[in-house]
Amino acid sequence: MTATLSDLQRAELRIELERQLQRLERSMKFTDLAARPVELDQSAVGRLSRMDSLQNQIMSQGLKERETGRLAQLMEALRRCEVGTYGVCTSCGGGIPYERLFVFPEAPECTGCVR
Ligand SMILES: [Zn+2]
Repeated sequence: MTATLSDLQRAELRIELERQLQRLERSMKFTDLAARPVELDQSAVGRLSRMDSLQNQIMSQGLKERETGRLAQLMEALRRCEVGTYGVCTSCGGGIPYERLFVFPEAPECTGCVR
């Protein structure tokens, strides 16, 4: 196991992870609202806007799935911070370059192992 990050880089990336987690949790609250089932017998809502809401709902559900996946990655990265394996590739055990983590702080794998 070879982590290539300095303590300062590690601390910065952890702050960034927590910041992104907070932002994601906030945005997921709105996605949750938008992804709720569409009320089908609202007399005040015309057919066209009902199709709009269905469309929105479908898009929101896709977004929600992506957000849920991202949430899991962020939580997992924070867990690795706790146990001291953050910045170590989960596939090959090599160090993940700082440049990669700077762009994707939640990245669990190095550039060579990512699918
Ligand atoms: Zn790797």
